[in-house]
Amino acid sequence: MKTIEDLDVAGKRVFVRADLNVPLSDGTITDDGRIRAVAPTIAKLVERGAKVVVASHLGRPKGAPDPQFSLAPVAGRLGEILGKPVAFATDTVGESAKATVAALADGEVTLLENLRFNAGETSKDDAERTAFAGQLAALADLYVGDGFGAVHRKHASVFDLPALLPHAVGDLIATEVGVLKRLTEDVARPYVVVLGGAKVSDKVGVIENLLQKADRILIGGGMAYTFLKAQGHEVGISLLQEDQIPTVQGYLAEAQERGVEFVLPTDVLVSTEFPDLKTKAPATFSVVAADAIPADQEGLDIGPKTRELFAAKLADAKTVFWNGPMGVFEHPDYADGTKAVAQALLDSDAFSVVGGGDSAAAVRILGFDETKFGHISTGGGASLEYLEGKQLPGLTALEG
Ligand code: ADP
Ligand code: MG
Repeated sequence: MKTIEDLDVAGKRVFVRADLNVPLSDGTITDDGRIRAVAPTIAKLVERGAKVVVASHLGRPKGAPDPQFSLAPVAGRLGEILGKPVAFATDTVGESAKATVAALADGEVTLLENLRFNAGETSKDDAERTAFAGQLAALADLYVGDGFGAVHRKHASVFDLPALLPHAVGDLIATEVGVLKRLTEDVARPYVVVLGGAKVSDKVGVIENLLQKADRILIGGGMAYTFLKAQGHEVGISLLQEDQIPTVQGYLAEAQERGVEFVLPTDVLVSTEFPDLKTKAPATFSVVAADAIPADQEGLDIGPKTRELFAAKLADAKTVFWNGPMGVFEHPDYADGTKAVAQALLDSDAFSVVGGGDSAAAVRILGFDETKFGHISTGGGASLEYLEGKQLPGLTALEG
């Protein structure tokens, strides 16, 4: 793979595919980690006299403009971080984009509107994607792939566009891939994996691969209930992926055969209602044993005994990969499980990698110093698919 240093960028229009998919609350950025992570790449291109055209997706708009998913707030924040104005184009390949890019002087930066406002970005139809990539290609001379959080997507700006322009890998992706290599080759042991979060189906698949590599797998968050159910326990109205139960039972059996330790919650915080994440009004909850969740209750965080158990299972780790919060950490009453895991990583002397948009945001929002962790990844799904051993379209496209 070529790096930015291999490209002659001075005076050229350089398209940077970033991942600026940051969490927003009423138009305010609640965690700017992904913007800060790609800023050094953009700053380097600015320094070298490129005309920088930054593009990203944000959220999941349906292939048409939708103001709640506008990247406009991100342009402002990116400008603050770079210490220079970032011109915002109010469309992606239309008149505004063309005019904004045409007006760029060397060393100036523009951000295009959300790529997913165009159906061609995520289309499954190769021709439709290629057509959109062609429109994007008209805006640039060179391509730098640095949106690590999107490299597992076969999308126009990630997969098709690099084929149309001379391209290089950005510094963020290069760093992320270097870290993931440390989790797959010559791993320092014990290697402990912690999985949680809400996207159960996205995460179950990685376990198959991790069973060959990890010494211990701790399961919390929404995933835990599918595991508890697979062991024959009732989980009330907790997050559950019924169709994954046979797969999960297979994993539990294989883990036993291989001597990989699976650690599930022994107690959980339950409530009859999901907390109000806007007002953060105090929640009503109780602590129950993980095998005694009442039928009308939902598990929303790991319990105090599990916090201790997980901390103990992390204490001697030399390598840790953590993806997915242990509970609904956005509400203070359900943040303790996630805090306990973050603290346990800091207390161990493991090389610790935190992956996942919400997990990374949780670490920062809950007040931990991100520089104390081995690496905070900007990609959740992308890291998981890498660890699954899959080919990532956005990396394949940057090869050669
Ligand atoms: P990441 O972005 O780190 O990969 P996910 O997107 O999979 O993580 O999951 C993050 C979300 O999971 C958070 O919004 C959190 O509120 C939610 N979550 C965690 N535990 C539970 C649970 N027990 N029930 C429902 N949602 C949960
Ligand atoms: Mg998430």
